[in-house]
Amino acid sequence: MLAFNFDNCFVNELPGDPEEGARRRQVHGACWSPVLPTPVAAPSLLAWSPEVAALLDLSSEDVVSAEFAEVFTGNHQLPGMRAYAACYGGHQFGHWAGQLGDGRAINLGEVVNRAGQRWDLQLKGAGPTPYARRADGRAVLRSSIREFLCSEAMHHLGVPTTRALSLTATGEPVLRDMMYDGNPRHEPGAVVCRVAPSFIRFGNFEIPSSRGDHELLARLVDFTIRRDFPDIIGDDVEEKRARWFATVCERTARMVAHWMRVGFVHGVMNTDNMSILGLTIDYGPYGWIDNYDPDWTPNTTDEENRRYRFGQQASIAHWNLSRLAEALAPLSTTLEPLQAGLERFIQVYNGDNRQMMAAKFGFATLRDGDTELIAEAFSLLQAAEVDMTLFFRALALIDLDAPNLEPLREAFYREDLMRRHETAFLSWLERYAARARAEGELAESRRGRMNAVNPRYVLRNYLAQEAINLAEQGDLSRVHELLEVMRKPYDEQPEYARYAAKRPDWARNQPGCSMLSCSS
Ligand code: AMP
Ligand code: MG
Repeated sequence: MLAFNFDNCFVNELPGDPEEGARRRQVHGACWSPVLPTPVAAPSLLAWSPEVAALLDLSSEDVVSAEFAEVFTGNHQLPGMRAYAACYGGHQFGHWAGQLGDGRAINLGEVVNRAGQRWDLQLKGAGPTPYARRADGRAVLRSSIREFLCSEAMHHLGVPTTRALSLTATGEPVLRDMMYDGNPRHEPGAVVCRVAPSFIRFGNFEIPSSRGDHELLARLVDFTIRRDFPDIIGDDVEEKRARWFATVCERTARMVAHWMRVGFVHGVMNTDNMSILGLTIDYGPYGWIDNYDPDWTPNTTDEENRRYRFGQQASIAHWNLSRLAEALAPLSTTLEPLQAGLERFIQVYNGDNRQMMAAKFGFATLRDGDTELIAEAFSLLQAAEVDMTLFFRALALIDLDAPNLEPLREAFYREDLMRRHETAFLSWLERYAARARAEGELAESRRGRMNAVNPRYVLRNYLAQEAINLAEQGDLSRVHELLEVMRKPYDEQPEYARYAAKRPDWARNQPGCSMLSCSS
């Protein structure tokens, strides 16, 4: 029998919608609406994360039980669960979109584990809610595999993220037009159970503010500080709110600096997809940088403007925080603390980014001239189409006393571009080696430090797509194997070397590998 210790603060302390069920509607004066998952035909467990199960005090017997699949696909509720969908709004692609809300995510409740930690459980794809608008509340297997694997991969890379407990099949088909080209097909349905200390987004604050409901806004802010930021204490409410906003800015900055370190492109940084805890949330058309290109976005919906491209993620995070600041402004007597928070974002991001760049290149800190040296490296990587992940691992192998291109060769995608840029690379490498020698560090310790920040394994788009293709044929082995590899992304793991390989040619322009739509 599964049993959890539920302590459902969110629904207990914040006003809810009096109406139950999934009738589509605008919800005013409430932070959530009670709604149950819609039962499905044949729940079955496809994959699960042992680390997340442990956070919830679940044994492997618990997870493989029939009851688990029923509960975590949404067919059955445990005592103490209070299922609800949250009301939030958001700025999508730069424009205010009004009420959005959990359209297909249903929160089951907040579990307090044996260690006293609080974990919110949420099913994604569990059926429609009042916020489903015209959509079906469901999720397909391919996008659920991507969310499941990437949440865990990001965690093991050391990037703040929501987690994933389980991936289950619903046994029901879902109709999707994957490329939005008038060719809908039935795909297998799935549910991911996401786990995080809180699923509150910037958009949860934007919606009451946009409606002039400052009382609800204040309640939600003070609730969030109390539940999710327990370090922020004191008697002065305005002062606490100011510190809280600065903390949100700081965490968001740290998160984006990590994305830049590992080559992650979120793809849909709308304010409804920004976690108040600074966690990476909502894995949709995300992607990983193969050949280094700051202008790249995996999201086909964003192909034209490239608003959410790799190199623009920090400015977009700042823009999103500015929208949050605007939403919070009615609660402050002066704008100064909000401006200070936004300033804090810039400081923390710049500081983290410098430190992160130094570490990636194997320097203790950045010295005079390093910024130029690093900028030159990135422009070479871009011009010569060099794989970002392979490049940084190879850089740790360079013999600083006799630098040559040999270790870098496999990081190039194109012979012709390699030859064209060979001289420039060599010249850069010589200057780099001289600078790195000045660190006065032994080769082995230098390699160890660089390899601790430069992953060997990332969830490359083509790897996820291969796992999806097999899973759609009923073979989950690749999903399991990728989960296993991504648990130790900084280790060599020679037995899994094939998963460190650069994107193969066939994947260059394949849907799912190089570009993704929002269809999920
Ligand atoms: P996203 O772009 O995935 O962040 O989603 C934007 C909004 O659309 C959110 O409010 C989602 O809950 C909602 N949404 C996306 N897909 C579905 C779906 N299949 N059914 C219901 N709501 C959805
Ligand atoms: Mg979303």
